[in-house]
Amino acid sequence: MLKASRTSREWNEIMTNLFGRVALVTGGAQGIGRGIAISLAEAGADIAIADRIPSNAAAAILDGPQSPPSTSLDETIEHIRSLGRRALAISVDVTRKADNRRMIEHAVQEFGNLDILVCNAGVLSVSEVESLSEADWDHTFAVNIKGVFLACQAAIPTLKRSKHGCIINIASVASKNGYAGLAHYCASKFAVVGFTNALAKELAPASVRANAICPGIVRTQMWDLLAEAGRRSTESREDAWRRAVAKRIPLGRPQTPGDIGDCVCYLATAENITGQAINVDGGMELH
Ligand code: NAD
Repeated sequence: MLKASRTSREWNEIMTNLFGRVALVTGGAQGIGRGIAISLAEAGADIAIADRIPSNAAAAILDGPQSPPSTSLDETIEHIRSLGRRALAISVDVTRKADNRRMIEHAVQEFGNLDILVCNAGVLSVSEVESLSEADWDHTFAVNIKGVFLACQAAIPTLKRSKHGCIINIASVASKNGYAGLAHYCASKFAVVGFTNALAKELAPASVRANAICPGIVRTQMWDLLAEAGRRSTESREDAWRRAVAKRIPLGRPQTPGDIGDCVCYLATAENITGQAINVDGGMELH
C-alpha cells in the first residue's frame, strides 16, 4: 500500500528545519549575503557572518586596512540573536588563505561544528575588455573564484565530519551567459559553476554536497553600480533599474535577498541534490 502523502506542515518542516545546524556566510554584511544569513537563521541555524567590512562585534582577524564598522552587520547579528539563534561576526578577506583558515577555526571554536558553507562574497566592476586593467581582472578573480576555492578548502575537513555537510556557492546569471562590459565578471562566475560541479563529484564519496545558485537581478549596492553604468543620459538610476528588470526578467519582477535565502535553505536540506547550478532569476536563464 502507498504511504499517505505528507501534509504541507510536514513538508514545511522537512524543507526548513535547520535547527542545530551551523552555517557560515561570506560577504554577509549586506545585500544578498545578509538575506541568506537571515533566512538560514529563520530556518533554525546558528550563523557566522564573515565579511571584509568589519563590525564593532567582529573578531579582529583581518591584518590589512579596514573600512568603517558596518551598522548593517551589527544589526543583522542582533536580529539573528533576537530570533533565538547564535550569531557571530568575523572580519575576513576571502582572498587570503590564512584569513579563510582562521574564519573556519573561529566559527568551529564558537559553535562546535560547521554544516553549511555559503560562499557569497563577490565584487563587480564594469569595463570593456579593450580598456580593462590587469588589476581589475586580478581583483575580480581573487574575490569571486579564488575566494570561493580558499573558503571551500578551509572548510572541507570540518564539513566532512558533519552529517549534513554542504557547500552553496553564489554564482550568477552571468555564469550562464555573457554580458557586454562584464567579461571579467562573467568569466569569474562561469568558473564558480565549473569549480562547484567538480567539487560535487570530489566530495560525493564523503557525502558532502556542493551546489551553486545563480541569482538574476537583486537590488543591492552591486546592482546600483550596474544601474548607474547602464543609465541613459536622460534617465535616473531608478528608471535604469526598472528598465533592466522589465526588459530582462520574463516574470517581470526583481529577485530579493530572501528569494536567494529560500533557495539556500532548500539546498541545505536537499540531501539528494549535488553539482547543480540553480537559477533564481524569474526565467532569465533556462539552462
Ligand atoms: P554587495 O556588493 O551588496 O555585497 C557583497 C559583499 O561581499 C559585501 O558585504 C562585501 O563587503 C563582501 N566582500 C567583497 N569582497 C570581499 C572580500 N575580499 N572578503 C570578504 N568579503 C568581501 O553584492 P550582492 O549583490 O549582495 O552580491 C552578493 C553575491 O551575489 C556576489 O557574489 C554577486 O556576484 C552575486 N550576484 C549578485 C546579483 C545581484 O543582482 N545583486 C546577481 C547575481 C549574482
